[in-house]
Amino acid sequence: MARYTEAVCRLCRREGAKLFLKGSRCYTKKCAFERRPTPPGQHGVRRRKVGEFGLQLREKQKVRRVYAVLERQFKNYFESAESRPGVTGENLLRILELRLDNVVYRMGFTTSRAQARQLVGHGHFAVNGRPTSIPSFQLASGDRVEVREGRRSREPFKLAGETLKSQQTPDWLSVDPATLSGTVSALPRRDQMPLDLNEQLVVEYYSR
Ligand code: SF4
Repeated sequence: MARYTEAVCRLCRREGAKLFLKGSRCYTKKCAFERRPTPPGQHGVRRRKVGEFGLQLREKQKVRRVYAVLERQFKNYFESAESRPGVTGENLLRILELRLDNVVYRMGFTTSRAQARQLVGHGHFAVNGRPTSIPSFQLASGDRVEVREGRRSREPFKLAGETLKSQQTPDWLSVDPATLSGTVSALPRRDQMPLDLNEQLVVEYYSR
């Protein structure tokens, strides 16, 4: 499973926005972007003129980095979004939101997508009763995600029930803290995906 392994705070500084890749640290004063909101590297502070292509490229990279998806897989997602009925940009975000690692994060089982990806990879979750360790697994409406029974007493989930009670989940998901499980109640609409991203620029990038 290929993935980005360098310092992730550089990515926020590169994209000029907080991408919230480090869980709770992102909400503290330790956030690297809060301390140094300039692009990384020796020439990071130089002013650069960004053209139309540059804007499209940066937005594509931003979306890709938020969901920690590598280029090839992201392009596949785009092609799949394009072939579906509806608005391509919204389809793309919906595909990304319905990844198992993202749903685990959105349900509140973890504080970041990176942590969700790790826990899914370690086989802690089941989908519709079947153990699933593929972070990119695509969920559908009605699918049930749960922490596997034998894993509920383990460290990452010991206090999860309590944390989940005070957690706000998106409208398209429902969570049951008592059983450490949740359901995809409906496919997310654009207004239910709280993302500061301009997916239209991504569509323009791939439509050049
Ligand atoms: Fe980005 Fe979070 Fe690092 Fe801040 S702490 S720079 S939001 S990953």
